[in-house]
Amino acid sequence: MPATPLVYPFTFGDRSMADLLGGKGANLSEMTRMGLPVPPGFTITTQACREFLASGVIPSSLTGEIESALRELEKMLDKKFGDPKNPLLVSVRSGAKFSMPGMMETVLNVGMTPEVAESLAKQTGDAKFAWDSYRRFIDMFGRIVCDIPPADFKKIEARILESHSVNSIQALTVDGLKALSQALIREIEAQTGKDFPTDPRQHLISSVEAVFHSWNSERAQIYRQRERIPSDLGTAVNIQSMVFGNLSDDSGTGVAFTRNPATGENGSYGDYLDRAQGEDVVAGIRNTMTLVEMNEREPKAFQELERVMSLLENHYRDLCDIEFTVERGKLWILQTRVGKRTAEAAFRVALQLVDEGKISMDEALSRISGEQLGHLMFPQFDLAGQVTEIARGIPASAGAAVGEVVFDSRRAFDLARAGHKVILVRRETSPDDLVGMVASEGILTSRGGKTSHAAVVARGMGKTAICGTESISVDERANLFTVGALTVYEGEVISIDGTSGIVYLGALPTIASPVTAYLEGKLDANSSQATPVVKAVDRILQHADASRVLRVRTNADTPEDAVRARILGAEGVGLCRTEHMFLGPRRAYVESLILAENEEAQRGIIAEMEPLQRGDFVGIMMAMSGLPVTIRLLDPPLHEFLPNIAELSAEMARAEALREEISPRQQAVFAAVKRLHESNPMLGLRGVRLGILIPELFKMQVRALVHACLEVRKLGHNPMPEIMVPLVATQRELLYLRKTLEEEIAHTLTGTGQHFDIPIGSMIETPRAAMTAGKIADHADFFSFGTNDLTQMTWAFSRDDVESSFLPRYLDLELLPFNPFESLDQDGVGLLVRIATEQARAHTSDFKIGVCGEHGGDPRSIHFFHSLHLDYVSCSPFRVPIARLESGRAVVLANMAGPASSST
Ligand code: ADP
Ligand code: MG
Ligand code: MG
Repeated sequence: MPATPLVYPFTFGDRSMADLLGGKGANLSEMTRMGLPVPPGFTITTQACREFLASGVIPSSLTGEIESALRELEKMLDKKFGDPKNPLLVSVRSGAKFSMPGMMETVLNVGMTPEVAESLAKQTGDAKFAWDSYRRFIDMFGRIVCDIPPADFKKIEARILESHSVNSIQALTVDGLKALSQALIREIEAQTGKDFPTDPRQHLISSVEAVFHSWNSERAQIYRQRERIPSDLGTAVNIQSMVFGNLSDDSGTGVAFTRNPATGENGSYGDYLDRAQGEDVVAGIRNTMTLVEMNEREPKAFQELERVMSLLENHYRDLCDIEFTVERGKLWILQTRVGKRTAEAAFRVALQLVDEGKISMDEALSRISGEQLGHLMFPQFDLAGQVTEIARGIPASAGAAVGEVVFDSRRAFDLARAGHKVILVRRETSPDDLVGMVASEGILTSRGGKTSHAAVVARGMGKTAICGTESISVDERANLFTVGALTVYEGEVISIDGTSGIVYLGALPTIASPVTAYLEGKLDANSSQATPVVKAVDRILQHADASRVLRVRTNADTPEDAVRARILGAEGVGLCRTEHMFLGPRRAYVESLILAENEEAQRGIIAEMEPLQRGDFVGIMMAMSGLPVTIRLLDPPLHEFLPNIAELSAEMARAEALREEISPRQQAVFAAVKRLHESNPMLGLRGVRLGILIPELFKMQVRALVHACLEVRKLGHNPMPEIMVPLVATQRELLYLRKTLEEEIAHTLTGTGQHFDIPIGSMIETPRAAMTAGKIADHADFFSFGTNDLTQMTWAFSRDDVESSFLPRYLDLELLPFNPFESLDQDGVGLLVRIATEQARAHTSDFKIGVCGEHGGDPRSIHFFHSLHLDYVSCSPFRVPIARLESGRAVVLANMAGPASSST
């Protein structure tokens, strides 16, 4: 006896053993244990596969173990493998730990020889069945074990069908089936240069080897990469006695789900095909029957199937999918697993199971995800009518958008304002396109991937986007794009599907998502119009809200965003970016400010800006009355407000060459642009540094804020402002600036008889700030992690550059497991977050800490922030419901994992 067996009978294992037996094997064992009608068999372990793949030969003990397991099987079934008198036939089935549907191989009817077929024909009285099974074996063995290209077999098949004057294999006579098998064998012998093996034991071992090898097939590798399944697990192999769905009219094969996996509707759902074997159902050779039709035909087997399905559901406490075969009216179960399902089905099924008393609300919450909720929030195209597809790109941000194409952001803004629905089409987008992006229904680019500026911004805004549509070429000057022979001009309408990445010509009708209507307060979950999925989302979200510890705020720069986010459940604003208030038409003020000749002129311009700024604050604080609003003081580098240096230099050079007059203003702008030009603007004059250089600017913002608070209070609302200082690196910066800000607040309030407690906090977005957070905490009332900048500076990745240069390659090579700007790098950047949090909480045990970077809306990152006991995350309005859900899930999942893992 070897130390660790490489073979286990189905009567041995259970579903917890997927590591060793693979998912299929573990579940076959589990069902055998439950007493379900599973054809007996045994499983060769994943360990055997790993040894085989490492050494290239079958492990020495394996052949012996297979032999003894086979003898046990023969005893149990009173049949003999390879013996024509009473033959045992088996299937050789792949089955890895994680389900990889259709990625690996399975060989059926192993043990078939011409002698066995002859005898089966006699025993069953059905020669056609026997020779069809033989034909199937040769076909599968040829393709899977001998690597014959399927197309070559198809050609032979066509030839035989023609010479027998029939048009399907089913219509072949016994002689036809024999002739086809012979022709396939001749092809195998021709291609391999060897005699076709006649010993069924050799067929068995070669099939096992072929299944082992299929772990490394190209499609299996690609699938694993996409699904992040480790490549060193190997597959188990299940040897199972055959049952025959192709035996008689009261035989057949099928697949079934215990509930509808597409819609989540209660009640079983499936397909059945009479006189069929193996994958005939999925292959779509003939039209299948529904389970209702199967019930009419095979009522006994159907009743048994219903009984098994209900047993399995109760046992696995989830939606199961099942492969079964009926042999002469008797049902056999060949496979089960917890079934894959759509987002809609996930929500509905989870709640059905709760209502049936099978799972708790906590479990229901653990079984759905924020990503699935996100899917339910996007509108969808109705593809029922006629559609014209013109291109395919990378689906970057889901949703369905229809609009007139526009190639310029400013133009998009103007047209949208005039009531047009537009789609911004660009080669790629930059931060300057923001106005246009906000104004349009969707974004289409010809360059860049899922992490490009367009993609990231679109996802953040919940806006549809397709990126990297390389087949279109965009001419931004001529205001058109071409794709093949087609030219699409500004104003023509296209439809873009951000879920599939398909671009259509013309306007496709969309179906609004009822879940979004519900989340936006336009549909009552208890009303008769509410669909089942809306009711399910409502109840699960309520449970998440009741469970979560993290608060969820929103990033909002405008009153409209704040209003929307509050309806979506935001509990305040965690980040109000004041620089957005100076883009668009107002950027002229900043330009003038930079060009101001003296302090007095500067003050004059700032005075003009103040009422505009105040107006912005009033709107936001009205929308968030009674909830905290964190105002971040001006952050971006000044050059962002000025013309591009390269373009301007070219223009000046041209003007000089043509001896055109250059106005003093133009000259001043040029001089300023040159003076302010930085080679690393992200590391230059921005954030707190700007406030120290031009204190008047920050003072103006604070005055505007205080005045806004007074105004809001006068209107009967309750403003709760907080001031946040960006890009702090040392506690001295904060202390210095804080004094100025506090003086200004006090000064502005003098004589009003009013008082406001305005906390002043620091962003933690430089590594130095994170490492010295304990000291910065001396002068800060709260912290907020700016995880975008923190990621950028920790990795030394300039986000806007790396996402279009080397990051995609790094992701391909798995040098990075994921884009660190999408999901927080917990080992590196996360360590800084942890250190800063520990220091702050050592300073003051209930020190308030939030997150306002992109990661505040990312599920994995949210779970991490929960584990560090942060107070809140802040994300874009559309991600608020997702963050609520995931914050609740973080609690539930940590509880389920037990106290040990919830502490880390
Ligand atoms: P996959 O993992 O690709 O689904 P399977 O190992 O499940 O591959 O097998 C493919 C098909 O062969 C399935 O439809 C299954 O029901 C059928 N099959 C496998 N083993 C047997 C058996 N012992 N008797 C009858 N049909 C079988
Ligand atoms: Mg299967
Ligand atoms: Mg920042």
